[in-house]
Amino acid sequence: MPTETKPKLDSAAEKRLARQMTRDAVRKSAPKLHAVVKYPDPVLAKKGEVVTEFTPELAQLVEEMFDSMYAAEGIGLAAPQIGISKQITVIDVSFKERPEEKLVLINPEVVDRRGKQVEEEGCLSLPEIHEKVQRDAWVKVRAQNVRGEFFEMEGEELLARAMLHEIDHLHGILFIDRLSRLKRDLVLRRIRKLQKNGDW
Ligand SMILES: [Zn+2]
Repeated sequence: MPTETKPKLDSAAEKRLARQMTRDAVRKSAPKLHAVVKYPDPVLAKKGEVVTEFTPELAQLVEEMFDSMYAAEGIGLAAPQIGISKQITVIDVSFKERPEEKLVLINPEVVDRRGKQVEEEGCLSLPEIHEKVQRDAWVKVRAQNVRGEFFEMEGEELLARAMLHEIDHLHGILFIDRLSRLKRDLVLRRIRKLQKNGDW
């Protein structure tokens, strides 16, 4: 006697079951997306709180941060950018190409750095603004994962820049704060113009 066949259902029951399965599938596949806050939201200028509790809710938030980052077409997102002032950031410089490169940094700290690189940066909280920023060429970062375990991560080029950009967010620093005074003033003037035109 087969043991893995479905019991026979009448058509009304079958339809109910099909509707339920569709609802479940929608619930599982629809991620909760967080809106990204823009400059000059004060949360972006605050130092994030250190995370001390590594709960299932934290793991859930991290997944939502990845989903929100991908939806906004970013390769990095820090919790303050979704209005949560905590030391959590997610990075994927491969943008979904290589899932093994998805990186979660909780309470990260730069423990070693070498060299210099100057490349153009952008930020989900500063749409349309792109400027060259000087960063370390190579960094070693110590952080905790979603389970609270400490690990070290080394990166160069784009990965180094992404980690430094995101760690800056956790300390209330935006990439425009790393520009020369003159360049920063020009950027701020441009933002004020965009705000005035309702484009910000
Ligand atoms: Zn940013």
